[in-house]
Amino acid sequence: MVSKSPLHIDANLRILRERIGRAAREAGRRPGEVRIIAVSKQQSVMAITTALKAGQLEFGENFVQEARGKMDALAAEPIVWHFTGALQSNKTRAVAERFQWVHTVDRAKIARRLAAQRPAHAGPLDICIEVRLVEEPGKSGVPPDAVGALAAEVAGLERLRLRGLMCLPPRETETALQRAHFRRLREIRDSLLAAGHVLDTLSMGMSDDYPAAVREGATMVRIGTAIFGPRQEQ
Ligand SMILES: *Cc1c(COP(=O)(O)O)cnc(C)c1O
Repeated sequence: MVSKSPLHIDANLRILRERIGRAAREAGRRPGEVRIIAVSKQQSVMAITTALKAGQLEFGENFVQEARGKMDALAAEPIVWHFTGALQSNKTRAVAERFQWVHTVDRAKIARRLAAQRPAHAGPLDICIEVRLVEEPGKSGVPPDAVGALAAEVAGLERLRLRGLMCLPPRETETALQRAHFRRLREIRDSLLAAGHVLDTLSMGMSDDYPAAVREGATMVRIGTAIFGPRQEQ
């Protein structure tokens, strides 16, 4: 059960860390290999503060405008901000200026804009390429057969640091089907490694499927509801 109350965020985080640790050990991995990105979109500053106090320092946001307000309110905190939303060209500047990670790069034009707009003082922007594992109408992400070319493009851009791959697979209730999607992303990652790319990140798994993702090699899970409870409608 996931509680709505901010008072339960602490307990939710503890349960989550335990379950991630268990899934990792079952797969012969070390629990420390998996980082939790707390996806705080449509959650309050208070909710973020509660998670911070419970030791959570990495947060994901999907909407630039909303994220800016939270970043300003929490400017004194040592938070690492991850952009996990769909990224349009007219939003790249704010993302390049204010985030440390972008999980959703899926075309060269966006990558080039982020590189050009990343401030010199900020250090390189950490990038995951979003892969569209299944053709679905309206889905973002680069198809598997085009990942290599985009990876080469990103790796060649100054001010960006290619870190890995991300996916948002279709919702599956069966663990075996969840794992099949995540395994595919890992295999695409392996083929990039074989081609000489340096990648250390697989951003995969959300509240409903993170144990499957951890078993298949996730190094970052992006968790919203299982930490904060249901999101507030905007
Ligand atoms: C909202 C969102 C999440 C978190 O989803 P939950 O199911 O609430 O854990 C993770 N990744 C992305 C890209 C999202 O948009």
